[in-house]
Amino acid sequence: MKIRYTEGKLSVELEGDTQKALFKQLSEFQEVFGNHRCQKCQSDSTRFVVRDNGGNEYHELRCTECHARLSFGANRQGGTLFPKRKDESGWLPNGGWVKYNKDTGKNE
Ligand SMILES: [Zn+2]
Repeated sequence: MKIRYTEGKLSVELEGDTQKALFKQLSEFQEVFGNHRCQKCQSDSTRFVVRDNGGNEYHELRCTECHARLSFGANRQGGTLFPKRKDESGWLPNGGWVKYNKDTGKNE
């Protein structure tokens, strides 16, 4: 089975032998690429960015309007990513789309 799925500006073609296999692929796709709209200012003007810091890669979406970021963590297995909606102090506002505030030292 093949399906074509569109989320925002992105289209993907997925292939799987079973509905369960396709469901899993859609889930993984939506988990990451379903976050293209900034939840802080509702802009669709966002960019995918990979930062390399001493061999560690950091994946994030950046809003070109308000400069908020949505950071992604990497699952230990499977090479998949997940949006970070919490930090050490709890749930982040705007579904994880935050800007670091130097004055408070918090992601807001
Ligand atoms: Zn924004």
